Amino acid sequence: MSRTYGNFIDGEWTDSQSGETFEVTNPAAAGEVVSVHPASSEADVEAALDAAVAAQDEWASTPGPSRGAILREAGNNLEARKEEATEVLVREEGKTRSEAGGEVQRAIDIFHYYGAKARDFGGTVKSASAPGKDLYTKHEPLGTVALITPWNYPIAIPVWKLAPALAAGNTVVLKPASEAPGVVSIVLECLDDAGLPAGVANTITGSGSEVGGPLIESERIDGVSFTGSTAVGTMVAETAAVDLKRVQCEMGGKNPTVVMPSADIEAAAETVGVGAFGTTGQSCTATSRAIVHEDVYDEFVAAVSDYAESLVVGDGLDDPDMGPHVSENELSSTLEYIDIGSSEGATLEAGGSRLSGDDYDDGYFVEPTVFSGVENDARIAQEEIFGPVLAVVKADSFEDALDLANDVDYGLSASIVTQDLSEGKRFVNEVEAGVAKINEKTTGLELHVPFGGYKDSSTNTYREQGDAGLDFFSSVKTIYENY
Ligand code: NAD
Repeated sequence: MSRTYGNFIDGEWTDSQSGETFEVTNPAAAGEVVSVHPASSEADVEAALDAAVAAQDEWASTPGPSRGAILREAGNNLEARKEEATEVLVREEGKTRSEAGGEVQRAIDIFHYYGAKARDFGGTVKSASAPGKDLYTKHEPLGTVALITPWNYPIAIPVWKLAPALAAGNTVVLKPASEAPGVVSIVLECLDDAGLPAGVANTITGSGSEVGGPLIESERIDGVSFTGSTAVGTMVAETAAVDLKRVQCEMGGKNPTVVMPSADIEAAAETVGVGAFGTTGQSCTATSRAIVHEDVYDEFVAAVSDYAESLVVGDGLDDPDMGPHVSENELSSTLEYIDIGSSEGATLEAGGSRLSGDDYDDGYFVEPTVFSGVENDARIAQEEIFGPVLAVVKADSFEDALDLANDVDYGLSASIVTQDLSEGKRFVNEVEAGVAKINEKTTGLELHVPFGGYKDSSTNTYREQGDAGLDFFSSVKTIYENY
């Protein structure tokens, strides 16, 4: 049941030059090897860069509609392999079948979206100040770009970087996260089968420091698009800044949902619960803080705890409500935060333990967990846990709730549940977050609108997705013609 993958370099599947490999195991059944991948090193990075740099001029001069046709065909190829990709994703990362299927569908839709956008990519004509002059802008590819991606959306995030990068005429070296790189190989097979020329997109697997490090340091790279933790992203941004490479880092979150007394509390509890426990809390936009008005606090805590306790946790292949953590490390980190929550004096209302025994096959399962009585300066209210742990904080007014929502280093996604529109409007205007929502969970994104964070969640230079997704991957030249 285990598959061996290669690096995709210059249109060929290859082993690492050292012949070293690493294994990915099933998070729902510890020890079960599901795939084997090259443990690459700097020599493989150089080979991928040789291929990407050599392919750059020809790909840049390929007309946008032709580039777009390849992306759309890659989307069709992925659609034909949707079940296979979904299963690989579940077995490597642990998502439920429904979550994984939704993510693969998102990747298909992104290919189709940027496949169409590649036609429009070009520039704009402006009025010149005198007759006999033309004034216009021309969008050109950046060149060769490095894409570094996390494990928690192992197909959607690589594709939401790859598709606009390729649509804009760049060549690419992609380093996926080591926890779940298999679906990226399927994506590259789909691009290859769609007729993408050799060298235009390359992937190399291996450790962050041994592969990602040399990649972002290389002088042959013109831009770095990174998604991952704030700790690594900060280092990536600093490294790229040394030789003024264009860089975009999308990083962690500590996302609040404010619940006001006018809300339907049962519905609000479900909104918060889906945001907190969906994808096992392993989303950058996961709802990790509920900031609840004191008038409905007790009612909300009871409702969200009931919701947490109602969830069925199990192997993602059986499509339960919640799957396992991706790895033992992530599970240990969540369990440590649960201990921290208790030692900080918060009240454990639901969950709080690892799930083990025959039903759980030594997988990395943990109960959906709710803490009440959390102070906003507690570590479980300030630090990204990246697990299914919700901290419920009490607010005494709308102003207090807004202040508490903003009193955190991160600023990725935030939402409010209220029937008072002016309260909702004030919230979305004043909350310090790149995504602000009324009566919606903090998770869930539309692919055609910009996405990115404020504060420590992002370098906040360029946005991803939508039209904004193309901006990062292109340079704007302003042309004056006098004739
Ligand atoms: P991570 O930072 O550990 O790793 C991300 C990627 O960076 C991986 O491919 C990793 O191998 C690579 N890497 C690690 N060290 C490196 C180095 N020294 N040089 C270059 N590359 C290196 O993050 P993760 O654990 O894979 O993902 C979880 C994190 O990602 C969470 O913090 C989450 O909030 C964040 N995330 C953010 C977004 C967003 O859009 N804001 C989306 C998804 C995940």
